Amino acid sequence: MVVVVHGGLSEKDFLAFDTLIRACEMAREVMREKEAIDGVESAIKILEDDPRLNAGTGSFPNLLGEIEMSASVMKNDYSCGGVAAIKNVKNPISVARAVMEKTRHILLVGEGANLFASLLGFEPYNPVAELTIETLKESICEAEKEKNPIYHCYLEKAREKLRETHWGTVGAVAKDEKGSLAAGTSTGGVKMQLPGRVGDSPLIGCGTFACPFGAVSMTGEGEEIIRWGLARRIGEWMEKVDAQKAVNMGIELAREKKIFCGVIAVNSQGEIGWGANGGILPLAYWKKEMEEPLCMLTNNS
Ligand code: ASP
Repeated sequence: MVVVVHGGLSEKDFLAFDTLIRACEMAREVMREKEAIDGVESAIKILEDDPRLNAGTGSFPNLLGEIEMSASVMKNDYSCGGVAAIKNVKNPISVARAVMEKTRHILLVGEGANLFASLLGFEPYNPVAELTIETLKESICEAEKEKNPIYHCYLEKAREKLRETHWGTVGAVAKDEKGSLAAGTSTGGVKMQLPGRVGDSPLIGCGTFACPFGAVSMTGEGEEIIRWGLARRIGEWMEKVDAQKAVNMGIELAREKKIFCGVIAVNSQGEIGWGANGGILPLAYWKKEMEEPLCMLTNNS
């Protein structure tokens, strides 16, 4: 049994390791009884629920201030599902899984995804947290200009809060006791995205991929990850090379094409790999032989 989770490629220090660890612990518990896909879903739900991470609650808003979330899941038998630009649900990853398990389709978007979620009984939920952050940013700007010095006393703390508040997209890959593999990714997208923009995260073969050789979750510049189909390449390379080597090959390609991205992977033997081109990739992992999950920052740039 193995699980690896990431908290999105970022250029800032990462201070949400507690949540990454909790996500690994949850996957570990769930996979004692269930499969890799259950481990991945339960881990990602924990990550989505942390407002400091850009997925589920806390997602970046689009240019109109609306939150449109995207997520996908895939298993080693090529079953897969995703949602893009979905609104008003708490856990897009669970809706993505429902698309995989309950429909003939792979991807539902926008209004169709919202309708699907509500017909399935997913409770309406307002994932706004970024707007709070936006308000905080505006308050800081105003406080900086304020003549009354009392406001200046709060500035440092407020800036600190802002620095702490927001990191990236989330993802998980896992292998269970029986050898099944699964990958999942969930995001609020990127800053200043146009309404309706879809990045790599809900797209199979781009942000998420699994096949009999391995499972992969990506983060970073969605448009470039889509262009080069990075998750599929790394997943398929695991037929011939181990997980870390396949990730390294992906990062080499990313470097050549100047793609800012991060990746986590697990192969069919339960070997894991990770890497990033630019920025830092916070991650946590747990393997059967380890007592507790470990977390780290990776920077391969
Ligand atoms: N890949 C995500 C997107 O383009 C963003 C991220 O991973 O930070 O939507």
